[in-house]
Amino acid sequence: MKEHFLSIRASRLEKERCLPYLACMSAKQGVASKNDRMAWLKGSDAVCSDPPFSPAGRIWRLVLLGAPGVGKGTQAELLSDRLGACQLSTGDIFRAAKCLGEGERSPALEAAMHYMVRGDLVPDEIVLGIVQERMRCLRCCGGFLLDGFPRTVAQAKALENLLKKENVPLTAVLNYELPIDQIVARLSGRRTCSRCKAVFHVTNMPPRVKGVCDHCGGELIQREDDRPESVRVRMEAYEKSTRPLIDFYQKRGLLVSIKAEGSPEEIYQRTRSLALA
Ligand code: AMP
Repeated sequence: MKEHFLSIRASRLEKERCLPYLACMSAKQGVASKNDRMAWLKGSDAVCSDPPFSPAGRIWRLVLLGAPGVGKGTQAELLSDRLGACQLSTGDIFRAAKCLGEGERSPALEAAMHYMVRGDLVPDEIVLGIVQERMRCLRCCGGFLLDGFPRTVAQAKALENLLKKENVPLTAVLNYELPIDQIVARLSGRRTCSRCKAVFHVTNMPPRVKGVCDHCGGELIQREDDRPESVRVRMEAYEKSTRPLIDFYQKRGLLVSIKAEGSPEEIYQRTRSLALA
């Protein structure tokens, strides 16, 4: 089990090393990686260092759904490594923006960050504007794995229209499910390195020395939006705004529900047999 976490941590570290433009990631500058997702993270005319090539097999265009803490980000990383499609997380765009200096953020990103820190959903028009600026990532020949978007029915309808216009239909919507007590335990125990952003868990994946990052010696902190008050707000936002998407995609025949219990590899194998056959 620990080995699964370690390999995912390594993969996450590799991806986070791909953010040389972020001042707070400076410890990782200069390390090569296969895909830095720069076009998604930075938008505008930013170019990925190693864009996906057109795969010989199937092109996967997936949406990942699930409450915060259910582990969909981890699954998105595994799926991305194995299917070749990029993990497109709107949360990552906002976290990356947080690391930019004053004046480097667009007004939309500046506004988004205020909502994010509180755990509130960013308003639809801001999120949709940011996604529309990155349409080329949805057209990408490598496919995509949407993680954290759409999060409301309005966003799902807008995405449906955008994809229809581009003639790039979704392959499936993966809905990860986990009992609420397990979700709260995962989120409240998560610790992130303040320097290199590596992720640990106080019981499932503890660092060698309490409070200290195994990789860079940085201080481990609790993410602002993993604090109990923000977790409560995030769960409420999920129940009210995101859960209705299950019905939305079920009606379109795209929904595949997957139990998110067990190790990341076990959940991946479950995903594979249910949705990727
Ligand atoms: P995540 O990493 O997906 O949990 O996102 C972190 C935070 O970013 C969320 O708690 C929201 O504040 C914000 N966020 C990310 N994606 C969206 C979205 N599609 N709609 C609204 N807010 C979002």
